Amino acid sequence: MSNQETKYIFVTGGVLSSLGKGIAAASISTLLKNVGFKVSILKADPYINVDPGTMSPLEHGEVFVTDDGAETDLDLGHYERFLDENLTQANNFTTGRVYSAVIEKERRGDYLGKTIQVIPHIVDEIANRIKEAGKGKDILIVEIGGTVGDIEGLPFLEAIRSLKSEVGKRRAMNIHLTLVPFIKAAGELKTKPTQHSVQELRRIGITPDMLICRSEYPLPRELRNKLAFSCGVERNSVIECLDATTIYQVPLNFLKENILTPISEALDLGVLTPHMDDWDVLVKRVIAPRDELLIAFVGKYIDLKESYKSLTESLIHAGAHLNAKVKIRWVDSEVIEDKGCEDILSEVDGILVAGGFGERGVVGKMQAIRYAREHKIPYLGICLGMQLAMIEFARNVLHIEDANSAEFNPTCKNPIIYLIDSFMDASGQKQLRTFQSPLGGTMRLGGYACETKEGSLLRDVYAGEKTIRERHRHRYEANPAYREAFEKEGLIVSGESEGLIEAVELKGHPWFLGVQFHPEFTSRLTNPNKTILAFAKAALIQRQNG
Ligand code: GLN
Repeated sequence: MSNQETKYIFVTGGVLSSLGKGIAAASISTLLKNVGFKVSILKADPYINVDPGTMSPLEHGEVFVTDDGAETDLDLGHYERFLDENLTQANNFTTGRVYSAVIEKERRGDYLGKTIQVIPHIVDEIANRIKEAGKGKDILIVEIGGTVGDIEGLPFLEAIRSLKSEVGKRRAMNIHLTLVPFIKAAGELKTKPTQHSVQELRRIGITPDMLICRSEYPLPRELRNKLAFSCGVERNSVIECLDATTIYQVPLNFLKENILTPISEALDLGVLTPHMDDWDVLVKRVIAPRDELLIAFVGKYIDLKESYKSLTESLIHAGAHLNAKVKIRWVDSEVIEDKGCEDILSEVDGILVAGGFGERGVVGKMQAIRYAREHKIPYLGICLGMQLAMIEFARNVLHIEDANSAEFNPTCKNPIIYLIDSFMDASGQKQLRTFQSPLGGTMRLGGYACETKEGSLLRDVYAGEKTIRERHRHRYEANPAYREAFEKEGLIVSGESEGLIEAVELKGHPWFLGVQFHPEFTSRLTNPNKTILAFAKAALIQRQNG
């Protein structure tokens, strides 16, 4: 299909948030990709923040980083994990971004003195961004964040309404995700919230072509009929979506509901047969794995599992490929500070310290790292987890007692981890690609190449690849002034990126790796990240060797 023929699937949500619109959209994209279409997916977020980079993980969950360095909504992570494709800046935008762009154009005089209004200017900006993201694709799935009825969502809904009529028949469809609650006292599933939500959509000129109904119980035939009749959709377009054991089961469940038949009818796509055999095998292993292993996840946000979504998902991917359930023991590092490691870590098969910001809990994290180092338990340190492994080593092996990170003590005498204001290449000339954080300071964001050292664990983890590419989100760096001292005592630099220390590993330890990059961002169910997979495998071996 040429670009002229890009078809659109618009996904809106009703009744409640958190119904899994992102997973539903990603699941449809997976099915269509496995039919053979070129599919992409976009999240349009009506909130006002320009991007989620500055939003609290408490409120917004994880900030997902794309290869091109965008800090995006965590749904983009789901899209990549399902689609197994790299998405970009263009695949996520917010009201804040749309208004910034329009205001910038207005200041430049691009609108030739016209009065700037929500209709047409804001709506056109949204529609143009959607069209841009669909270029070169057969099908673009567009998820509208939030719930129908939100004030800030109106321009987005108007944009998809007008886009649908602009592209004409059989080129766009609307899917509405809704909740069919079970009311205990009545012993019944209820359709009214869905009816109201669809009415709200219709009021702004959108009639759904399909309903995806989240429900705790199967939808009886009469209820499906009622929903179809009252909401004006075809009977085969009422799709049931029950709670799944794993999110990766959702595409398979949709297939059982024959979701592709009404999609094909709406978009004139012909007979659709997706190849889901590999996916099916992996899902079976996620649900009923042969083996089991236990990883201690030592962090400070342990009650904030959503902010480590990519990491926990990447462990599920690794588990599916190893046919093992990767159990996580969430360990609050401040508890280690109080109680020590022994009781908490003596039985685990692997220890993980993930990325993070700020000083709270770092002492406990370093105690856990020391435990892994001394007891020869597989250790993976990601970003802050690598930086702390170096500080721990400097303090306890190199006996540099005041070794620290400039993040925690800006004036410390031995900044093992320090701040580079503007990242320079090795010659000190060229400024590397960085992003100015709105909160001040420079963040190194997105994908960078990393050279792996010959004969190293890292090289082995990446199956002999000399140059690898992973994503980043950090401000501080390992200080090369200490490199020689580290290497003399066995902590080897095994990865370098543009002259920066990118990975360290411990000689004589079965599996001890610290990486400055975030391997979890590139892990997909069908294509697990190699660092995460190798770490889980080392933990499984540890388990089997008892
Ligand atoms: N706080 C550290 C830094 O900014 C680590 C960041 C991270 O772990 N993502 O460099």
